[in-house]
Amino acid sequence: MQCPRCLNTDESYFYKGSRGWYCRRCISFGRMMLEEDTAAVELQDVQEGSEEYALQYPLTPEQQSVSEQCASFIQDSDVLLYCVCGAGKTELVARSIAAMLAQRRKVCFAIPRRQVVLELRERLAGWFPKAKVTAVCGGYTQDTDGDLIVCTTHGV
Ligand SMILES: [Zn+2]
Repeated sequence: MQCPRCLNTDESYFYKGSRGWYCRRCISFGRMMLEEDTAAVELQDVQEGSEEYALQYPLTPEQQSVSEQCASFIQDSDVLLYCVCGAGKTELVARSIAAMLAQRRKVCFAIPRRQVVLELRERLAGWFPKAKVTAVCGGYTQDTDGDLIVCTTHGV
C-alpha cells in the first residue's frame, strides 16, 4: 500500500474509514482516499521576461549588499534570511527570485497564514508584472501553477 500523494508506505499511517483506506501522514492536506485518482498537473514553462521586476522603493546600500549576497548564495545552497519584522525580507529576496526566474526555474513562497499569502501575491504581482504569480490556499486551489507560487504551508 502506498499513499499516492506523499508516497508513504509505512502501514502505521494508514487507516480504514467508512469510505475506505486513507493516509494519516499527509492528512493535514485533507483526507485523500488511497484509491483516489491523482491527475498529474502539467506545469507550464516559466514565461519569458518573468524575471523583470521593480520594487516600489530603492534598497539601502546595506539592503542592496544583502540582496546581492542572497542571490549569489542561493545559486548552490540554502539561505536563511533572519531579520526583524519590517526589515524588508521580501524586498531583499526579489533579486534572488529574479535570478531563479531568469534560469526558467519556478519559485515558491510557503507561508503559514492564508491572508498573508493573498497579500504577498498582490505585492509580488506588482513587482514582477510579466510573471504569472499564483496564490494557492483555501479558496484558491483551481490553478496551482505559476512562475511564482505563493502558498500556505498546509492544505487550506
Ligand atoms: Zn499520504
